[in-house]
Amino acid sequence: MDTKFILVGKNLKELEKFMIDNNQSKFRAKQVYNWLYLKTLKDINDMTDLPLSTRELLNEKASLCSISVKDKQISKDGTIKFLFELKDGNLIEAVLMRFDNRANLTACISTQVGCPMGCSFCATAKLGFKRNIDIEEIIQQIFLIQSETGLKVTNIVYMGQGEPLLNFDNLIGSIKIFREQFQVGARRITVSTCGIIPQIKELAKLDFQSTLAISLHAPNQEKRQTIMPVAKKYKFDELIKTLQDYTQMTGRRVTVEYVLMKDVNDSVNDAKELAVAISKLKSNVNLIVYNQNEKSDFKKPSKEAIQKFKYILEASGKKVTIRLERGADIDAACGQLSSKFNKVS
Ligand code: SAH
Repeated sequence: MDTKFILVGKNLKELEKFMIDNNQSKFRAKQVYNWLYLKTLKDINDMTDLPLSTRELLNEKASLCSISVKDKQISKDGTIKFLFELKDGNLIEAVLMRFDNRANLTACISTQVGCPMGCSFCATAKLGFKRNIDIEEIIQQIFLIQSETGLKVTNIVYMGQGEPLLNFDNLIGSIKIFREQFQVGARRITVSTCGIIPQIKELAKLDFQSTLAISLHAPNQEKRQTIMPVAKKYKFDELIKTLQDYTQMTGRRVTVEYVLMKDVNDSVNDAKELAVAISKLKSNVNLIVYNQNEKSDFKKPSKEAIQKFKYILEASGKKVTIRLERGADIDAACGQLSSKFNKVS
């Protein structure tokens, strides 16, 4: 069993304690801290401003991460999908996307191994649920993406595998570390949820400055519960009401995510009904064109249906964006993260 001290995820105080416990001067901790969170590095030996003796000590007693990169795939559009192996052998995925503004690098990270929510259209759901990803493992996903690419991540979206609000403490703890240690602005962090009402209420009580995105995907209770089992527990109207309270308490607009699926939720009536349902909710709408995969019966709508849907919502006064499909050729698009090699039982 590897009992080395894991560096990535530790705060300055913890690093200082480690240095002092190992007879090093305390200020070495700050140098290590800067390397871990503000620069990028591949190896302990890359910390070139540390004396050789400190690097030797670190090599002997510490490791950068407890998770490792098992595979990496690069899409034609520059999107990179990472397969990470956790210390217990479980596999998870994360994705790095560049949008047209090259200075913006968005990382999409996972919070659970598999997912318990069972949405009928999502590839991750088919894996079932194995366990929550711990805080160190959440943070190390960003560290390793930076280490592998030599680039600083500017935006973080909790939209990978799993339901972030069901791993609440690690979600909140990791956001704190991304803000304070990696210096990613709160407004550049987005958490996507299928709508776990009690935890949305908790978020509202915190000073949550990041963006909350809600996977609504249907204009009413009836339709929502046929594709998202969570809707049976947390009802549509109560969810909208909870989100209204949330916007009032936090002063922050939410993002309504809506995956458009042919003949499921993409009709003119669906658009009209959705416009009414969210008319009082301070929100922007993000339409996601369904990413098809061979194992799923769901299909993407026609271009016309997508445009019509967008126009109807815009006419109701909403700001609407259509999420660009990224990395579809490497199964890195939304809902395609299934860690094919994973043997989740
Ligand atoms: N559990 C959270 C985080 C997952 S985010 C949530 O439900 O929001 C992943 C997003 O991709 C969710 O909005 C999900 O509904 C959506 N999604 C799932 N399968 C998809 C697919 N095949 N195509 C497009 N989006 C999909």
